[in-house]
Amino acid sequence: MNDHPPDFRSADPSFSQAWTRIGEEIRSFRSDLQELPVLPSLAASDIQAELARLQSAEPLDLTDTVEAVIDLLRRGIVQVTSPRYFGLFNPDVLESGILADALVALYNPQLAAWSHAPAVNEIERVVLGRFSAALGLEPESTHANFTSGGAEANLSAVLSAIAHHFPNSTETGIGGTAARPAIYLSGESHDSFVKIARMTGLGTRALRKVPITERATLDVNALDKMIGADRHAGLYPLLIIATAGTTSAGVIDPIPDIADVAAEYGSWLHVDAAWGGAAALSPKLRPELSGIERADSITWDAHKWLSVPMAAGMFFCRHPAAVRRAFGVSTVYMPGPSDARPDPYSTTAQWSRRAIGLKVFMSLTHLGEDGYARIIEQQAATGRRLRTRLVDAGWITVNDTPFPLVCFTHADIREGRVSTTDLLERIYDGGRVWISEVVFAGQERVLRACITSYRTNDADLDCLIEELEAARLTSAATR
Ligand SMILES: *Cc1c(COP(=O)(O)O)cnc(C)c1O
Repeated sequence: MNDHPPDFRSADPSFSQAWTRIGEEIRSFRSDLQELPVLPSLAASDIQAELARLQSAEPLDLTDTVEAVIDLLRRGIVQVTSPRYFGLFNPDVLESGILADALVALYNPQLAAWSHAPAVNEIERVVLGRFSAALGLEPESTHANFTSGGAEANLSAVLSAIAHHFPNSTETGIGGTAARPAIYLSGESHDSFVKIARMTGLGTRALRKVPITERATLDVNALDKMIGADRHAGLYPLLIIATAGTTSAGVIDPIPDIADVAAEYGSWLHVDAAWGGAAALSPKLRPELSGIERADSITWDAHKWLSVPMAAGMFFCRHPAAVRRAFGVSTVYMPGPSDARPDPYSTTAQWSRRAIGLKVFMSLTHLGEDGYARIIEQQAATGRRLRTRLVDAGWITVNDTPFPLVCFTHADIREGRVSTTDLLERIYDGGRVWISEVVFAGQERVLRACITSYRTNDADLDCLIEELEAARLTSAATR
C-alpha cells in the first residue's frame, strides 16, 4: 500500500511504467486497428465481470489498471477511429489532438476567466478568428467560442436569438413576452432542437416543421408560405434553421434562398454546419457553403470533420451584444476582466471549462490550413469513389451531396427480398465494418456510409463492398 499520496513527481516506478505502457499503446493501437474488429467483442456481462474484478481487489497498481482499461477499450467499444468505421461523423483523430488533450489533462487550465489562462484563451481566440474568416465572417466583430459540441452551440444560437429579439425576456422569461415565438426547421434538422425547445422554455410546439424536397433539403417555397400563414395566425418567426450537411444524408439546405426569407421576415438565421462546416477550409468545397456568411449564427464541430477528439464544438455569432445579454453575469468570486478580453464564463453556457481549443490549434499548426484542406478534400474524393463503386457493384445511391456521405439501397431491398436491418445484422456479426441505416427524405429506409476517417483508402472501400455483397447474397439465400 502507498503511504504517500500518489504523485507523478515522486519516484513511484508504477507511474513511469504506466506512461511507458500508454506511450506504447498510442504507437501500436493505430496499426493494430487494421486487424481489430470495428464492433465490440465483449458482451455487457463480460464488461461487468471485469469491472467487478477491478473493484473487488485491493487498490491496484496503476500499470495493472492501465492494462485492464486498454483491454476494455480495445474489445469493448465501437472503434470509431477505424478506417472501416463508416459511421456517424465520429472522426478518426489526428495525433496532434491526442497530444494536446494529454497536455490539457496535465496542466488543467481553467478557461472560465480570461485571466486564469491567458495563453490558452488567446490560443482559442486565434483559432476561432481564423475559422470566422474562413466562414466569411468579420473576425473583429464576430463572437465565437468553443463548446462541448454542436448541441451546445445550437442551444447558444437559440438563446442568443431570444435575447436579441426579446431583450426583456432575460428577466421576464420567455413566458413574459406577448409574442408566440416559432422556430422553422425541417424534419432533417438535428434533433438537438427538440431538447433545446424544452430547455429554453419555448416548448416543442414552437418547432414548425417545414416540408422537404425530394432531395431532402428544406423546401424554401413551403417555408415562405408557412411563415406568411403563421404570422397571420399570430406567431412570431424568431428563428430559421438551415442545415449544411444533414446528419442523415449530408445534404445542404439552400442557404442563400433561406437567407432571403429570413431577411424578408426579420428572422434570425442559424446555419447548423456541425459536420459540413469543415468545407470552409477547402477552396474547392467552400462554394458549397455559399450564403453561410449571411447567417446570424453558425454551429461547426471541430470533433467531426476536423478530426480532433471529442468534445469540441464551435459557436459563431454576428451579434456579440445578444450573446452577452444571453449569458452575461457578474459574480463576487470571479476575478474581474484584466483588460478588454471578455471572460468566457460570462459569454458562454459553460462555467468551468477545459481547454477545448488546444487540440484544434495544434492540429492547425501541424497541418496548416492547406494540410487541413487536403485531408478534407481527400475524404470528399474517397466518398465519390465509394459512390461509383457502389453503383458499379449494382447498388443504387439515393442522396445528392458533395460531402462524403452515401445513402444507398439495392433492388433486392426495394423489392422486399432482403431488409436493411437484416443486412446490418449480418455485417455487424462479421465485425469488419460499421455502417448504419436511415430513413431517407422521410420516405425510404436505406443504408448510410460516411467517410469519417482521413485514412480510409480503396482497400477499405473494397472491404465494405465485399461485406455488403456477402450479406445481401446470404440474406437473399436464406429467405
Ligand atoms: C452532430 C450534429 C449535431 C450535434 O452535435 P454534437 O457535437 O453531437 O453535440 C448537431 N447538428 C448536426 C447537423 C450534427 O450533425
